[in-house]
Amino acid sequence: MNRRQLLKTVALGSAYMAMPKRGFSFSNNEDKSIVLSTWYNQGVAANNAAWNILGNQGTALDAVVEGVMVSENDIHNCCVGLGANPDRDGIVTLDASIMNHKSECGSVAFLEQIANPILVARMVMEKTPHVMLVGEGAQKFAVDNGLQLMGKKLSEDANKTYQKWLEKSEYKPIINIERNEKKHGPNPPLFLENGDYNHDTIGMIAMDSMGNLSGACTTSGMGFKMRGRVGDSPIIGAGLYVDNEIGAATSTGNGEEVIRVSGSFLVVEYMRQGYSPYAACKKAVERVVAKTPRKLEEIQVGFIAINKEGEYGGYALNKNFDYAVKATEIDNLKVDAESLITN
Ligand code: ASP
Repeated sequence: MNRRQLLKTVALGSAYMAMPKRGFSFSNNEDKSIVLSTWYNQGVAANNAAWNILGNQGTALDAVVEGVMVSENDIHNCCVGLGANPDRDGIVTLDASIMNHKSECGSVAFLEQIANPILVARMVMEKTPHVMLVGEGAQKFAVDNGLQLMGKKLSEDANKTYQKWLEKSEYKPIINIERNEKKHGPNPPLFLENGDYNHDTIGMIAMDSMGNLSGACTTSGMGFKMRGRVGDSPIIGAGLYVDNEIGAATSTGNGEEVIRVSGSFLVVEYMRQGYSPYAACKKAVERVVAKTPRKLEEIQVGFIAINKEGEYGGYALNKNFDYAVKATEIDNLKVDAESLITN
């Protein structure tokens, strides 16, 4: 089986289960570069930006930063960057994390008015002895390091969805509302006026031509969340985890459920035990199910993962989770992840 066939097989998910748990490795001179992003619609542009770096022998770390910044800078993205849905008080607060092949990591949470939280997370990793900065302190650190305060004005899209939300002001952080081709048509936009999608973090994981792994995750979190609420995305081990000996994983969905089981760390640990990325993601979703006190139809959790061999996979609790994969022979494959609940 060549790499193209392998990657297609892997994309099928269940077919992949039949494969040996650690069954595939590349010959030494084959380029292993690969990048995956949560949510196909935003993932394509992000993967392309990452690929400009990966395809030119750049590092996975630079690639994931450039990649997720595309979503952060997209004013029409419902759920990432300053254009995204605000919290229930009408203020956009952002969370982001980053981790590299040396297990160095950085993150920011509850950050306001900064366009690229991922840059701040990277600076926390590279310029401080710490892992996480939050709120005012994170903002001051960003400004001290040359980033601009962008103001509190909501994007036009976000303002519309917020006004709509205010009509009822119901605090129901139900996250299982996905872009759905049946409901929203083919290639649904990244924002819907009626606020129909209320989450869609970008988590990106990549391996570069040196075989090194890195990951980045950035989000405005759950739309219309309680002020001060922080999800899984900036928590190392929950929304993102990288172990260069084993693999990398990232997540999307109800952050609380992912935090409860240290989801991305768990996926990597399952890969350490020999499970394929697909099977590791599935087992982590099963753990979420075993531990959550919530009704399964009210929540969503999706994981994606890659291992050191360049194999990839993903799995979700509920249907309609998709992700984008780009590699030398794969131009943004859309993978509709299998889910535990299929109706
Ligand atoms: N995981 C994010 C959070 O809970 C939301 C998302 O993935 O869209 O903040």
